[in-house]
Amino acid sequence: MPECIFCKIIAKQIAVSPVYENDDVLVIRDNNPQAPVHLLAMPKKHYAAIHEVPAAEASLFSDLFAGIGKAVEQEDLSRHGYRLVVNSGEKAGQSVPHLHVHILSGRPLHWPPG
Ligand code: AMP
Repeated sequence: MPECIFCKIIAKQIAVSPVYENDDVLVIRDNNPQAPVHLLAMPKKHYAAIHEVPAAEASLFSDLFAGIGKAVEQEDLSRHGYRLVVNSGEKAGQSVPHLHVHILSGRPLHWPPG
């Protein structure tokens, strides 16, 4: 997806300092943070949303969550607690159509979310 901003970041056409990276997953800092720590974890393979990932590709999810675990450990987020958010679809607040998990931490996170 050449026009996808996250694909451009993954392809290193846009420079960022990764928080965590392996062959399958990239974790970066959100450039418009909604909490003292706001990370974005994304699979390197482009899918717009969870429901578009075929069953045959389900290992994408274990890879993604393993990458999230690494970033959480590295940034010591379990100390404060952290919240994972996946906005899916424009009406749910998704602005970048490349599957990604927000990792929010560093402040009290209230429930229910807005
Ligand atoms: P969502 O609105 O759930 O699709 O989340 C997309 C997130 O990507 C937003 O929180 C944006 O602030 C963030 N974002 C967009 N472009 C960049 C970028 N170039 N670097 C880091 N974060 C970005």
